[in-house]
This record gives sequence, C-alpha cells and structure tokens, in this order.
Amino acid sequence: RHTRDIAAAHEPCRMADGTRIKIFANLGSVTDAAAAVAAGAEGCGLLRTEFLFLERDTAPVEEEQRDTYSRIAATLGDRPLIVRTLDIGGDKPVPYLPMGNEENPALGLRGVRLSLARPDLMRLQLRAILRGVPASQCRIMLPMIADLGDYRPVRALLDDVRAELGIADPVQLGVMIETPAAAMLAGQIAREADFLSIGTNDLTQYTLAADRGNAAVSQRIDALHPAVLRLIREVGKGAQAAGRWAGVCGGLASDPLAAPILIGLGITELSATPAAIPGLKAAVRRLDMNACVKLAGKACDAESPAEVRALAREALA
Ligand code: PEP
Ligand code: MG
Repeated sequence: RHTRDIAAAHEPCRMADGTRIKIFANLGSVTDAAAAVAAGAEGCGLLRTEFLFLERDTAPVEEEQRDTYSRIAATLGDRPLIVRTLDIGGDKPVPYLPMGNEENPALGLRGVRLSLARPDLMRLQLRAILRGVPASQCRIMLPMIADLGDYRPVRALLDDVRAELGIADPVQLGVMIETPAAAMLAGQIAREADFLSIGTNDLTQYTLAADRGNAAVSQRIDALHPAVLRLIREVGKGAQAAGRWAGVCGGLASDPLAAPILIGLGITELSATPAAIPGLKAAVRRLDMNACVKLAGKACDAESPAEVRALAREALA
C-alpha cells in the first residue's frame, strides 16, 4: 500500500469522476524546485522571482537571472514552469528601483505597474527568462494586472524580445488575477491572456479592504469569504468562455478544504506549497465534479467564511 501511495503521489491528478486537475507548486528559490519534484508537483504554477532582486544594491544582471531560471527549469525536468515577473512594491526597500515613500504601498507602484515604469528592467528579465527556460517549458505571468491596458504593452515587449532573440515559437503570457478589477473583467482579459491564475492573498486583501500584513485586521482575512468566492466564480466563467484555463496560486490553493469549492467554480489548476502537494492530490482524487459544483453554488450564497467552511466540511464528510 505504501509503495502504491508513493507511486500515486507522482501520477497526474484526476478526480474520482476522471476530471483532470493539475497540481503545481509555488517556488521562491532554486532549492524549492527539488522539494516540489520530490512532493509530486506536476509543474511550477508560480515562481516568485523577487528572491533574486531583494537585499542587494543593484539589480541582478541578465546572466545571473538566466542562470538561476535555467537551474530551476532543469530541476523541474520537462514540467511546465510559470515564471512570474518581478512583483515588488514600495513596502520593500530596493535602492535601484523608482520607489518613493508611498503612503499606501499596496495601492501604489507595485507588480506590473513598476515593470511598466521601468521597461528596461522588464526587458532584461524577459530576455533572461526566454534564454534560461526552454520554450516548450516556459510560461510567463504578470502580477497585479487590473485590465488589458496593463497586459498589452507587456505582450508587445515580449514579442519584441522574442524577435530580438530569434525565438519563432509563441510564448504563453498569462496574468495573475489579484485585483477585484481583473476578476470582474476576467472574461475580456482571457480573450487575450493565455491563462489566468488567481492570487487569493492579494485578491482577498483588496476585496475585503484589509491589509494582509496588518495583525489588527488579520481575523478578517479569509479567502473563503463569499465575496472572494463570487469573484473567483467570475474568473472561472470568464476563462471557460474564452477557452483558457484558470488556476489558483494564492494560499487558498494549499487548503484541501477549499479544493472542492475552487474546482466547482471552474478552477482546473492548483499551485500549492510543495509540502501541501501530497495531501492536496489525495483530497482531489476523492472529489466528484457534480458535488463540487453544488457545494460551490452554496458557498457563494453563504454569508460568512465560517458558513463556507461548515458547508465544505459537511460536503467532505
Ligand atoms: C497572491 O497574492 O495570492 C500571490 C500568490 O502573490 P504573492 O503572495 O506573492 O503576493
Ligand atoms: Mg500577490
């Protein structure tokens, strides 16, 4: 039985009714990649590239970035690697970036907004990604998108960099859905972006207007809030209508209790911390799609996260 469990941990994940759900890993370093593979990750759904940029006086040059991305790609074998472009804002001191003293850094020049303000850094990172990660394995993802106006200039820059490097194959460029604006516009965004991945950490803080780093309001921060779930429902619907996939790479993806609700809302990829992957795969394998859709409907109609959790526990019992 033990050997069978270990083998199953490395098999692709399917629900009890046969529906395929991809279980990916979030990575924030080179060493995370080995842990993810050992845990049975089918790919990387979010590489947080900030670790390359923090706690230093100058930006990492192209070769250093390329080398790091290529080591992570090699560790993942032929599994897909979704590299998120730099997601830094005024809450982190980075001397070489144009960050003033912002009163509300979470609402300021962060994520793709910073990249659009510094296209030179963005270009360098895109070059390093395309040179470091084989085209068949490479996907790129943009943080903090609000609408297509944030997406299109990066798409153009990426096409330019591809031409510069002589890469003929298209490279998938997806977006994180972590602002309520992007969630509400998911349908139109999905007509141009190659995939959508929901960052529930930020989506929750922006939806509930509660700072994710402020202990005084941490009680309020629960991604299973019905208001957040209704936005996730919009994303699931919008992606499906456009024929794209929608995943979750925020902390909610690591919670097996949330899995049936997310799947019932149309999510087909969960990117979790490596340690959560074996348990998550086991939980998803027990699920049935009809039951998930029913549960998700009830969860969106609930009045509180506590009620959502009770519904999920009841459905899983
Ligand atoms: C998120 O916001 O849910 C997310 C995955 O991004 P980060 O936690 O890195 O902001
Ligand atoms: Mg985020």
